Amino acid sequence: MSKKPTSAYVHIPFCTQICYYCDFSKVFIKNQPVDAYLEKLIQEFHQYDIKKLRTLYIGGGTPTAITAEQLAYLLSQLEANLDLETLEEFTIEANPGDLTPDKIEVLKHSALNRVSLGVQTFDDKELKRIGRSHTEAQIYESLAALKEADFDNISIDLIYALPGQTMEQVRTNVAKALALDIPHMSLYSLILEQHTVFMNRMRRGRLSLPTEDLEAEMFNYIIAELEKNGFEHYEISNFSKPGFESQHNLVYWDNAEYYGVGAGASGYLDGVRYRNCGPIQHYLRAVEETGHARLHEEHLTRQEQMEEEIFLGLRKKTGLSITRFEEKFAEDFQLRYGSIVQELVRNGLLQVTGDQLRMTKRGLFLGDTVAEKFILDE
Ligand code: SF4
Repeated sequence: MSKKPTSAYVHIPFCTQICYYCDFSKVFIKNQPVDAYLEKLIQEFHQYDIKKLRTLYIGGGTPTAITAEQLAYLLSQLEANLDLETLEEFTIEANPGDLTPDKIEVLKHSALNRVSLGVQTFDDKELKRIGRSHTEAQIYESLAALKEADFDNISIDLIYALPGQTMEQVRTNVAKALALDIPHMSLYSLILEQHTVFMNRMRRGRLSLPTEDLEAEMFNYIIAELEKNGFEHYEISNFSKPGFESQHNLVYWDNAEYYGVGAGASGYLDGVRYRNCGPIQHYLRAVEETGHARLHEEHLTRQEQMEEEIFLGLRKKTGLSITRFEEKFAEDFQLRYGSIVQELVRNGLLQVTGDQLRMTKRGLFLGDTVAEKFILDE
């Protein structure tokens, strides 16, 4: 029997607006049975009998779309049986437009110690164009209110390579982000996903995206500018001041196990990756009848586990530890992957430093297409 995980992800699937690029598991909050959902979510959480966690992450959707009373219920119930001494990092995702004073009060009086704010861009016109409901002014108001409430571990999400976005707009966004004086940022390039407004527009020829060259220029600019300002590029899309790396996300990239709770949430327990059912009514019924909502379970083969270890490890700046890999899988890494590594090193995409295998800057930009070379036919 493996050790119990020390991380948990909790999903709040409600949003006050539906962004044009989003394919996350979420629903428009109006007329949703939020109270019933929270009750079942807590039932599912307690069913795992979780006493000790090192990291806990409430994501969405938009966790701050629910009312202050609902937030208070959620936080107090999650904390009820937890040993708060061992809880090192407790994060909630928040939307700048949602953080009213009563909600900030609730966050302040909980064990939360990290807030991840979905800024996306500082440009009001751009915010509108991607379907977000907040404004630049609300970003500053939320940041000030969070700092006032003594949150210093704050992260923001930004998206670049947005439709019609210029290099100048990226420069402005990065400058405004740096001026916030926060210790962590995630920067994602826009990905066109199926069943989104943007994909629809693309199909009808009504979306103009930056070229791949411009996107690469934006990515390189972001890295250079943030590094110049004391941020470490510790994962493909993530930057932090020393000591402020997201401990929870490192659990994912270290390919470690975690609980996933809530509609549409994913988890990884006892070697099994699972996904909960997404539609709220299905989720409520499943938890009511069985105590959990696991819909899809995937037992990974040893080879798949090795591929995941490489995929996730290469996302981090520190890369993949070859020794750790060999210990975990009792495999000779060189024998199995030596020729692939050699070719990727020759092409300037990977580098080997001592025990660590890591991406070069060019490799990081190409990301998964490099990692895919490690998928072997067997
Ligand atoms: S991007 Fe976030 S806020 Fe926007 S619809 Fe998706 S989950 Fe909701």
